[in-house]
Amino acid sequence: MRGLKLFRILGIQISLNYTWFIVFGLIAWSLASSYFPFHYPELSRSAHWVMGFLGAVFLFLSVLAHEITHSYIAKKEGIEVREITLFFFGGVSQLTKEPEDPIKELKVAIGGPLSSLILAFLFWIVSKFTSQAPYLILFTGLLSYLAFINLSLAIFNLIPGFPLDGGRVLRALYWKKTGSLRKATQIAANSGKWVGVGIILLGLWFILRGNLIGGFWFVIIGIFLRSGAEGGFQQVMMKGALEGVKVKELMSQGVISVPPSLFIDRLVEDFFLTHKHITYPVIQGEKIVGLITLKRVKEVPRDQWRSKTVGEVMLPIQEEMMLDPEGEAVEALQRMIRSGEGRLPVVKDGKAVGMITRKDILNLLEIKTDLME
Ligand SMILES: [Zn+2]
Repeated sequence: MRGLKLFRILGIQISLNYTWFIVFGLIAWSLASSYFPFHYPELSRSAHWVMGFLGAVFLFLSVLAHEITHSYIAKKEGIEVREITLFFFGGVSQLTKEPEDPIKELKVAIGGPLSSLILAFLFWIVSKFTSQAPYLILFTGLLSYLAFINLSLAIFNLIPGFPLDGGRVLRALYWKKTGSLRKATQIAANSGKWVGVGIILLGLWFILRGNLIGGFWFVIIGIFLRSGAEGGFQQVMMKGALEGVKVKELMSQGVISVPPSLFIDRLVEDFFLTHKHITYPVIQGEKIVGLITLKRVKEVPRDQWRSKTVGEVMLPIQEEMMLDPEGEAVEALQRMIRSGEGRLPVVKDGKAVGMITRKDILNLLEIKTDLME
């Protein structure tokens, strides 16, 4: 998942999804132009904007606190958390593995909504104090909004549809009851899809009744939940099936490599048309220096094939593109998705020792998920 790296807390990288900037603006704007003016018409326009901006900032911090609580509990349960990517009304904690028993899953899932509930209560208490002083009305308004939004975060996340926290709770309970993670995930994901549809319909109903902004948010959230339920299910099945499988077990050995000095016309003739692979590692001395792909070659005009060399056209090697033979197959697949390359070299001490393709991994995945019940 692409995002802007912010800072680290408890050793966890916190990142922002790029959509957040747009949504941050939308939230601040809708707070400043409709929510606060409606509840506090006596305040000035500039006060509404200050409240809107601070409201959006503290909403961000509230979501962050929610996610960090999940991660903190996960860490305490022995599950490493690499990264938290924040979206507008939630986040994705990148756990290095799925919880291995239902009780751990339950603890991790319940922590987030619990922290949101506690925050809602704290904001509410403080707002009761500030409301004693009429000149603090700006803060009272902000605090009541934050109490309301944290309560909403808790309730929304407790909706029993995977991948929401409530769906994870549902999954943990089914998992404990049936002993099958696959069945439990399937049930929780289905529930998530239907809840998503329900929220979309509710949003459309709001829109028909004239509540455009509220309805619009519901539709967006419903769509997000529906696709999350689908993707979440696939991801869990994938992680489950590939757990513990190493890159070296799936890679093809006997790498066919090319030197950077090779001309493109020879590359096409002697490699692409002869070996029929679409990616080759480029090796200089003994070290890997780049990748040459069919896509790169297609970008070179045909009349330059005799004058251009592999070294001029290749994709220079980056850390991200080199896989460790001892690394996890799941991680390899994620890197392929991130880099957009379906074939990556497996590298040890700078030398290419194998190649692994998306197909190698997906084939194993298919076999394993067919066998799993
Ligand atoms: Zn949560």
